[in-house]
Amino acid sequence: LSLQGLWWFHDVCWNIISHCVLFVCFQIGLDFTPWCAPSHQDREDQMSVFIKQLSVAKELQLPVNVHSRSAAKVTIETMREQGISRALLHNFAGKPSVALEGVKAGFFFSFPPAVCRNHQRDKLIKQIPLEHICLETDSPALGLDKLERNEPCNIALCCRHIADVKGLSTQTVQIVTAQNALRLFPKVQTHMQHISL
Ligand SMILES: [Zn+2]
Repeated sequence: LSLQGLWWFHDVCWNIISHCVLFVCFQIGLDFTPWCAPSHQDREDQMSVFIKQLSVAKELQLPVNVHSRSAAKVTIETMREQGISRALLHNFAGKPSVALEGVKAGFFFSFPPAVCRNHQRDKLIKQIPLEHICLETDSPALGLDKLERNEPCNIALCCRHIADVKGLSTQTVQIVTAQNALRLFPKVQTHMQHISL
């Protein structure tokens, strides 16, 4: 979203909210990988947009679903500075020490089936308390096999991987992560009466 488009975005948000139910403001965030933000100015522009998007989420009283790549620390610091209390950092791949700063701020972290491909994120998964973890697919990308379309049913794969890494049963991970998701997105529960945990 460009800086010029922000006020348009703001107006559209208010129009949408008056007509339907929003559960979350997504997917916003910072991507500082060199091909995405080659210059200092690019990173500054992303930061200005991100701060404005966070303020829209606060105004709408919605949790945020946040993408961060090569920008884990600055993403979490910015959200804390902006007073964000309800956030999901999806497909998080930052350092465990940075993730724990997010845990202290009450943020949640979700992991897609791609984490089963290798053990790169096991340390991170081990250190984040289960009470701060959610499951995601991020389909159609980030599946077990890069060449195959990732499907929502593959959520069971990340559940099993997190259970294995943490030495817990899959049922425990399933129940706690579902409870976490409902804590983070409480409006979902009010619109899905049949969910009982
Ligand atoms: Zn993303």
